[in-house]
Amino acid sequence: MSRAPDGQVRLVILGRQGSGKGTQCALLVDHYAIPHISTGDMLREAGAAGTEFGQAAKAIMDRGDLLSDEVIVGAVQERLAHDDAAAGFLLDGFPRTVGQAEALAAIAGPNVVVNLDVPTDLVLERMLARGRADDTEDAIKRRLELYEEQTAPLVSYYDDRGVLATVDGVGEVDEVFARVVKAIDANVGS
Ligand code: AMP
Repeated sequence: MSRAPDGQVRLVILGRQGSGKGTQCALLVDHYAIPHISTGDMLREAGAAGTEFGQAAKAIMDRGDLLSDEVIVGAVQERLAHDDAAAGFLLDGFPRTVGQAEALAAIAGPNVVVNLDVPTDLVLERMLARGRADDTEDAIKRRLELYEEQTAPLVSYYDDRGVLATVDGVGEVDEVFARVVKAIDANVGS
């Protein structure tokens, strides 16, 4: 296991829906013993709990739209304040806009950002095959549009800050995982 000199892996993973990000996240949190903070999971839990907030969030998610930066930043800030996130974390699905990335920088900036790179045709194939409840074709299309518009700019945002590692996401799960770990260890030092 590798650690940054300050003992922390503060990891953000970027990748479109269908990039294999979820699978890699499950392996990464185990490998680095850090909490998996997925804003999508947090919102789906709120939706399942049926609170007023959860219902409003679910309607937005079902359309494939994004919640406001203000709401989502508040939820992430609260989650990062928990004890288990003090020694590092993996953020999955956040930040999704430059505004969110700027807010995160003021809370706990990442020291490594993995961009899981998978070609569009493969992403589409995987997404249509898996059929999650909020995966209608329209919602998928909308999410991809928003990804290009709002989230893709984060690649250069983090590249400019010297923390970006783009990893080829095509291949077997183990193969991709080995590439991701190598990229993280090279970025955070061991
Ligand atoms: P995900 O599981 O990351 O694909 O997220 C599912 C849905 O939750 C997204 O399509 C958005 O509607 C919402 N969501 C998750 N994370 C964010 C975020 N960082 N900002 C805004 N909306 C989000």
